[in-house]
Amino acid sequence: MRWPKPWPRTAGATARVENGNRTRTLRKMLTMTTNYLHVTQGFEVLTKVLASYVTQELQVTYGEHWWEQGVIDVLYDNQKRDLPTDGNDEILTSTLDVARCLRLIDLHWRDLFGSKLKREHRTWLNELIDTRNKWAHQGSLDMPNDDAWRALDTMTRLVEPMDSQATKKLREIADEVCEMTSESLEARGIEKTRISSSRNRRKRVNKKTTEAGYKNRNNQTVIRKTDLPGNDHNQRVYILQCEECFHNYGANGSDIWLRKCPNCQGGADGLPY
Ligand SMILES: [Zn+2]
Repeated sequence: MRWPKPWPRTAGATARVENGNRTRTLRKMLTMTTNYLHVTQGFEVLTKVLASYVTQELQVTYGEHWWEQGVIDVLYDNQKRDLPTDGNDEILTSTLDVARCLRLIDLHWRDLFGSKLKREHRTWLNELIDTRNKWAHQGSLDMPNDDAWRALDTMTRLVEPMDSQATKKLREIADEVCEMTSESLEARGIEKTRISSSRNRRKRVNKKTTEAGYKNRNNQTVIRKTDLPGNDHNQRVYILQCEECFHNYGANGSDIWLRKCPNCQGGADGLPY
């Protein structure tokens, strides 16, 4: 007597293959959306900072009519759809999403924010309005590394005068994207130098802020690390050089990315080395 082919074995084999495929697909989906998730996390931080900053500034200018005169009268119809007409301040603030906050700063630029923020901030917030639209309509493909890093870098710059904790948090998220970028480039065997482009902000994607040769936005370049302890928690002193006046000075590793020259840019005094 011949036994029929035991179907469970075949089914089992098929199930294993399917599972394998599913795991691979899942893994692929996870890596594919990582940048998107980092940017999402960035927008969450940004929203909190901007909503309270915008509220605070509008309250100073419009007093108790801040919502009616500063928000409702100013936003375009499609932007204020679904917004409450009044309520307590906390609830009103919580209805300001990132797109509305960015728009409000832009719309109140002349009468209010232009005197508090620098012109660059307006450029950055307009860039972020764009990023936010792309982010909201992201398909199943992940955001490119460069775009994600740039979005987070721009958020960091925008919130710097508003909230130091949030600035630090955003910088950390941006650094995670930065590390991922270096890893994935290495994995693909692409030399980092080949990726550099004319966009000088992009060059920094491939260098850690403490790496010799890293240049921050203020043209301060890392020369080398020393063994001396810095004056911040767990920090070492790094020697930086200002590319404007060639002054050398010491700085904590954690401060490098935002350091200004103590000699020609009014930055804090350098640490001894
Ligand atoms: Zn200098």
